[in-house]
Amino acid sequence: MPKVSFISLGCPKNLVDTEVMLGMLCQQGFEITNQQSEAEILVVNTCGFIDAAQQESVDAILEATRWKEEGKCKKLIVAGCLVERFRDEILKEIPQVDAVIGPNQVPQIVALCSQASDGLFAEESPFLYDETTPRVLTTGRHFTYLKVAEGCDHGCTFCVIPQLKGKFRSRRPSSVVSEANQMARQGVKEINLIAQDTTLYGHDLEPRATLSALLRQLNDVDGIEWIRLLYCYPHSTTDELLEAVARLGKVCKYFDIPFQHASAKILKLMKRGGNAEFLLRLVEKVRRCVSDVTLRSTMIVGFPGETEEDFEMLIQFVKQAQLDRLGVFLYSDEDASAAFHLGEKVPRGVARKRRDRLMRLQQKISLQKNHRWIGKRVRAIVDGPSVETELLWQARMQGQAPDIDGHILINDGPENAFRAGEFVTLEINDAHPYDLVGRIVG
Ligand code: SF4
Repeated sequence: MPKVSFISLGCPKNLVDTEVMLGMLCQQGFEITNQQSEAEILVVNTCGFIDAAQQESVDAILEATRWKEEGKCKKLIVAGCLVERFRDEILKEIPQVDAVIGPNQVPQIVALCSQASDGLFAEESPFLYDETTPRVLTTGRHFTYLKVAEGCDHGCTFCVIPQLKGKFRSRRPSSVVSEANQMARQGVKEINLIAQDTTLYGHDLEPRATLSALLRQLNDVDGIEWIRLLYCYPHSTTDELLEAVARLGKVCKYFDIPFQHASAKILKLMKRGGNAEFLLRLVEKVRRCVSDVTLRSTMIVGFPGETEEDFEMLIQFVKQAQLDRLGVFLYSDEDASAAFHLGEKVPRGVARKRRDRLMRLQQKISLQKNHRWIGKRVRAIVDGPSVETELLWQARMQGQAPDIDGHILINDGPENAFRAGEFVTLEINDAHPYDLVGRIVG
């Protein structure tokens, strides 16, 4: 069977699709390799969300074409969200690409790789894997992502994901719990629940299910020690959910709730609703209900119609909210999005200045908050050698999600504690804007 290698880009939801495609191919006897130069089949699983991600995807595809010229690659397949948007353009503009499959055609990867298909598939039906779908974990053995739903019913005007992924559709609670048990048997200790909007989980199911009920079931899965929520939606972060997160021992006291902006005018233009007062009350309620909670959010600057006054409102909000983690994105003028047709576009240079100013403000806030950990002892999971500094290993505490948040650099500790997936007690002895430094004390 030919050797296959994947290049996986974009968000954790896309990574799960990659892992599912890997699982399906392994099940059919394909050999998987990390060496792209060795692969006879290369698959680039792309992201098509915003311009920067699209560029990264195109660069990766062009890079992969090199292996057709120099390496053993005989077939180059492009998958993922970029295909959903630019299927014909990819095939026309990059003739080295042999086939393309969209996010809803994931199961077709086997037919494509086994030459049994020319890549022209019948109409696609919404795809969502379940506990019977084979999957190969790529995130190390101790943590993983569980996709609890796919698609989105919201209409945020800057976003094209509903067009790429289709209607919101939840997996059955039994399917998610069964997969969590499978993961625990494989040694996974931390599961990160993901969807486009995780808080809407189950509302489309008959009988209806809820995220808090799912958390209660996952909390009973032996072997799993941490359950983290990512991609919550402000308006559906309910009291019931807060109560469940506060009470359930294995659920991380962590909320990732993208706010996107704080100006009522801009939130209205984004079709997200709310205002700074509503968001501040939500922040206050989350902190009141869930002690020692870590709050993460993301903001978009440069949205059409954003004035200096709107931006000042955002700055004031971030000063008041004192969030633990904040990602800031430049508005991306996607021609397939509703916002594309809004007037008053903000010049790119102005948007960049606003992003940099907001990031500087958050860096100060994050450093002040990180300093409060010095001298404290925290429970953390060891991830492995540091990606930045080979000399050190890194770990994460409950308030640090994989990939998107900082980590704790371990500068001392007993030899035998340095094992990925090991839970250790760290004493924090230094702090940086995004990372902490600590030594293993237990
Ligand atoms: S919630 Fe809004 S931003 Fe998120 S995927 Fe849905 S439409 Fe896009």
